[in-house]
Amino acid sequence: MAYSAGSEMTRGTGQLLPKFRFRLPRHFLWTGFVLGLALLVSYIYFFPPTWAVILDGEVVGYVSQVEEVRKAVALLAESEASRIGAQVAPENPPSFARRRPPRGTTLVTPETIAGLLSERIEFLATGYVICVDGQDVVALPSEEDARLVLSSLREQYVQPIPGRSQVTVEEVLIKENIEIAEKTVSTRMFRSREDALRILVRGTDKIVTHIVQRGECLWTIAQANHMTVDDLRKANPQVKGDIIHEGDSLNLVVPDPYITVQSREKVVFTVSIPYATEVAYDDSLWPWQERVLVEGKNGQKLVTQEVIRENGQEVSRRTVDERILSYPLTRKVVRGSKQVPPMGSGQMVWPVKGRVTSYFGWRWGSFHSGIDIAAPAGTPVLAADNGMVSYRGWNGGYGRLVLIDHGNGTVTAYAHLSGYEVSVGDRVEKGQVIGYVGSSGNSTGPHLHFEVRENGVAKNPLDYYK
Ligand SMILES: [Zn+2]
Repeated sequence: MAYSAGSEMTRGTGQLLPKFRFRLPRHFLWTGFVLGLALLVSYIYFFPPTWAVILDGEVVGYVSQVEEVRKAVALLAESEASRIGAQVAPENPPSFARRRPPRGTTLVTPETIAGLLSERIEFLATGYVICVDGQDVVALPSEEDARLVLSSLREQYVQPIPGRSQVTVEEVLIKENIEIAEKTVSTRMFRSREDALRILVRGTDKIVTHIVQRGECLWTIAQANHMTVDDLRKANPQVKGDIIHEGDSLNLVVPDPYITVQSREKVVFTVSIPYATEVAYDDSLWPWQERVLVEGKNGQKLVTQEVIRENGQEVSRRTVDERILSYPLTRKVVRGSKQVPPMGSGQMVWPVKGRVTSYFGWRWGSFHSGIDIAAPAGTPVLAADNGMVSYRGWNGGYGRLVLIDHGNGTVTAYAHLSGYEVSVGDRVEKGQVIGYVGSSGNSTGPHLHFEVRENGVAKNPLDYYK
């Protein structure tokens, strides 16, 4: 009963209201639907669900979550702060704009955005900048660090050079004006103390080294690395002369230092003073005889020099003091001046059996001062005329050489010998065996080089055999 009554009631009321309720909502719904659609469309149009990431006024990508980008920036800042040891702030933080990516553009992943930001975002930090002549060179996180860099800068050049104990460094100064200033600069300027020192001294903290291999020299290493030998030397002031050893480490980056450390050194060393020789002549002795009266002795002096170096390279050196420690002792000798009497017969004999292979005069652009007579090694060599042996011994390109003085200024020479049969001072007869054909000295095969000299001037030997 209650049920049917209730249903009747409902039906009853339902019949009362419909006209009123059904008409208005339909109208309202339509308007609402259109309005809502318009709102949704404009919302989606004006507030799309994606964001453009803008860096330095340029859209670098589209993301759906701004938080991802903010997190990436924070991570970068954190790692940069721990690298340099100071608080950092982004100089050009990214900005965001609700924007739909152009057709065909996909959203970038958080990894890609992080990579982009690490390349393009700059961080600023307040640190202690070392300025050289007004130019900011390098920054350090604390003033103490900056001061430590400057003090080790001086020490580098004050270290005594090993093995040269008589060097005293008298003064070290840096030519440029160096200041430490507290500044907010790009974190790219921050360096460790070691790298800061390298930059000041070498202009770069780049290190490229080469280990010397067996058989290499400065020139081959320079060539292989597209450098000049000069630059290689500049990069390696420790190399003295041309001496490098297998296993040595050479620097291949040419320094371009910001600073010039000038040092003034006092170098003290001893130098020997060579002795002079005083010659007296005695006509009772032959010219090849010599008597030493007093043996010579070198003296010694103590020299003090002032050496100015810039970045370790010597730029000037002057002698400031010289003190004689011992005077040299003059060597005194007596040399013979006795003339060999005329002994030659005027008619010479042929000095060796053989064929003339080279004549007196110009050949191949040089002057041949005698004749060459080819003969087997060991063939006896004969004195061309009577005379006295005035020289017997090794003489440079002549090899084993014998000179015979015939008097009247005539001397004959016998070169490239393999052995001798006479001694200095011996009187020899024309045709006497004085030695043997050889190839000593500057010679390509066994032969006798024979010369005739008149008062020291070489003459054509063949003129004496007419
Ligand atoms: Zn010759």
